[in-house]
Amino acid sequence: MELSGGEYSIGGLPVLGLAQAVGTPAYVYHAQVMERQAKRLQQAFMATPTRFMYACKALSNLAVLRHMRTLGLGLDTVSIEEVQLGLKAGFRPDEVLFTPNMVPFTEVQQAVELGVHINIDSIPMLERFGQAYGGKVPLFLRINPHIMAGGNERISTGHIDSKFGISIHQLRHVERVVASHGLRVEGLHMHTGSDILDTGVFLRGAELLLETADLFPHLRYLDLGSGFKVPYKPDDISTDVEELGQLLGQRIQQFNAGRETPVELWFEPGKFLVSEAGVLLVSVSLVKQTTATVFAGVDSGLNHLIRPMFYGSHHGIVNVSRPQGHKRIYTVVGYICETDTFAWDRQLPEVHVGDVLAFLNAGAYGFSMASNYNSRPRPAEVLVKDGKAILIRRRETIEDLLALQVEEPLTAAPVSM
Ligand SMILES: *Cc1c(COP(=O)(O)O)cnc(C)c1O
Repeated sequence: MELSGGEYSIGGLPVLGLAQAVGTPAYVYHAQVMERQAKRLQQAFMATPTRFMYACKALSNLAVLRHMRTLGLGLDTVSIEEVQLGLKAGFRPDEVLFTPNMVPFTEVQQAVELGVHINIDSIPMLERFGQAYGGKVPLFLRINPHIMAGGNERISTGHIDSKFGISIHQLRHVERVVASHGLRVEGLHMHTGSDILDTGVFLRGAELLLETADLFPHLRYLDLGSGFKVPYKPDDISTDVEELGQLLGQRIQQFNAGRETPVELWFEPGKFLVSEAGVLLVSVSLVKQTTATVFAGVDSGLNHLIRPMFYGSHHGIVNVSRPQGHKRIYTVVGYICETDTFAWDRQLPEVHVGDVLAFLNAGAYGFSMASNYNSRPRPAEVLVKDGKAILIRRRETIEDLLALQVEEPLTAAPVSM
């Protein structure tokens, strides 16, 4: 979102005009920002064979997936439904990686039938996979190297009691399962969670995975997951992807020099690609002075953007209607019957009923985590691309909410055990 000539715009289109055209609440995404972020990653790793798989749980609208494909990205998926969306968006099966956790084996079977890459994240699943496919279907192994990423426990997945991945301390067991079924391990994967600031975390992870490479003669892919941090506050820093590209690139090239089949480096950025590209536009319904603060209440809530309440994350807030307004302090809250505070004591240009506010950095885990709590419809989504705005999801209605509610008799027959 840019401010010029006293007016906010996205990709050259006036934000207030967009809000009026689509109504609020609405998510608006800027395709060019996604492109800029993708190019930055691709540029940083130009010297090394590298593939970026967009982690589509961050934002999975088909129009966005199609856009990511044209940018030369693959797709990282965590459910069979995301696999289906990816294929529908035009990704080839070999451009898709399926990285599920705790799913029934039938879901893995479905993914195998669809022909996508499979990432196995537990020993019992590896056993099951071995019994079903032996060496006929190649696989990735999700390893938990137990290195901590970032400071946020809630979004860190690499620690010792995490439910994700196969502990690096269980490799002996993995080796036995791989040998007994003649499994073909083509990829090693780790994803330690979000917000890695220190590029050393990626380097240590890569080193730990490479140390195990001798156990897997078919190794072709080294997938270091994500953790690319983006700035949420003005003074926040982001992951130094250029430095990472250089250091990791050197290490991979050195590793590949002694090998017959070189390994390709993979990453799975989600947030890095879409966070800054998105804003959530809302309207102010009420301004309420209490003894504690001045509340600015908006026509949205934790049902549409749950990150501030779920992770304590910070989202910049802009009063789109009054760029030059006199600044005052507000507590911005939603309309849900729960405490859904977007921001406490935030300085904003004077807020009036009807003003349009924008929550920044809302592209990742915004719409994709939205719900119908309080029986509220989910927002519309708009993609701004090449100077045009396209409605890519219409706002839900009460009819949509009612459409699935039925009254049909079910027979519960006794099941023989
Ligand atoms: C969520 C997830 C990602 C993306 O993480 P970001 O922080 O959004 O970049 C990548 N890989 C896996 C396996 C994930 O679960």
